[in-house]
Amino acid sequence: MIEYKNFYIPSMSEDKDQEIRRRLLVLFKNHSGMTDAYISQFGTEINMKNIQTIRAQFPNAGETTSTPATTAEEPNTAAPLGESTKDIPATDFVFKFSNRAFEVPTGDPTKESPLYPRVVDCPVCKKWGLNSQELRAKSLSMLNDPFMAPIYVTTGHFQEVNYLLASVTVCEGCMLASPDRKDFILYNRTTRQNQDSQLPPQVIRELKESTDKRKAFFEKTGIGDALFKIPRSYAAGIVSYQLADIRAEIEGGGKVLGAFYKRGNYWTRIALLCRQAGMDDHAALERAAEYFKTAFMLSDFPKQEMEFQVLYILFNIYLYFDKVKEARDYLSVLDKTRQDLEQKEGVPDGVLPACKKWLEMGKNRWEDREMPNFWKTPGIT
Ligand SMILES: [Zn+2]
Repeated sequence: MIEYKNFYIPSMSEDKDQEIRRRLLVLFKNHSGMTDAYISQFGTEINMKNIQTIRAQFPNAGETTSTPATTAEEPNTAAPLGESTKDIPATDFVFKFSNRAFEVPTGDPTKESPLYPRVVDCPVCKKWGLNSQELRAKSLSMLNDPFMAPIYVTTGHFQEVNYLLASVTVCEGCMLASPDRKDFILYNRTTRQNQDSQLPPQVIRELKESTDKRKAFFEKTGIGDALFKIPRSYAAGIVSYQLADIRAEIEGGGKVLGAFYKRGNYWTRIALLCRQAGMDDHAALERAAEYFKTAFMLSDFPKQEMEFQVLYILFNIYLYFDKVKEARDYLSVLDKTRQDLEQKEGVPDGVLPACKKWLEMGKNRWEDREMPNFWKTPGIT
């Protein structure tokens, strides 16, 4: 994942209005009547509840907008698998695991492990000395699947470890889970002091109150102690990311910036783990798409470059589901964003090149879409 240093914040309210209009058009699938209705009823604050209200006012909009010339290339597939599962609450979503999901893949044992332990404490239940495994810098190289989930490959010296099976730290006491160690209490070796969790106090309070829900979810999965043996099995790895998602859901409710972006990314990782375990990935990708769409609507990005990446991922998910028109809509938004940025002054360095880079990648994917192995995940035969 590429990181840039600058934020790009539209400076005038006119920019903001345009920005909201652009987002609404994507959401309402270029239905300008719905967009106008939204703005006249609710103004320019985007709120998912108001969006549902508008959708209810235009019940046939979905059908009428997908009938023009583009239908020819849109295979009239039924709703993707899992259409009914995306509304299941995070704490009720339990996978049916394949047999392979319970395997723990092992690298060459004669090689050095790329993992090293970091001891962290839990900010919610105060449990001390949790097992957290960090990846040595530059020990493995990383490829991405079409949804930007990472695939870890050995460069020769170190053992090949699928870091998705180790990256989430889970508290045995209260099931708080996160791949971001800064969510826990860390011991800083330089200052020789504990560094507090970055989670806001309100979120920690809610995490404390919802401990029983996380424990009940953990029971339902049937994973047991395998969750705490690192590296994990695919099944335990999937559950670790689901627990991280349950944490991020509370962050989303607490308006923590980037919560929906994180949830989308957790679910693209779960989808990759499903594929690696020989399981269907559609339900996981559908959830990823829901969270990425919400992130886009709420502009829930700590850095604007993340928005470009999300548009690229959404384009790929819809293409994967054979929803060609929607896929192209997301590419169009990326192109429109590029045009807007080119005309704007004072755009921080790096923002326009980032937008162009993701747009270029999207266009290349679009051109290659009939190629054999287009959806092949590296490492899976
Ligand atoms: Zn805990």
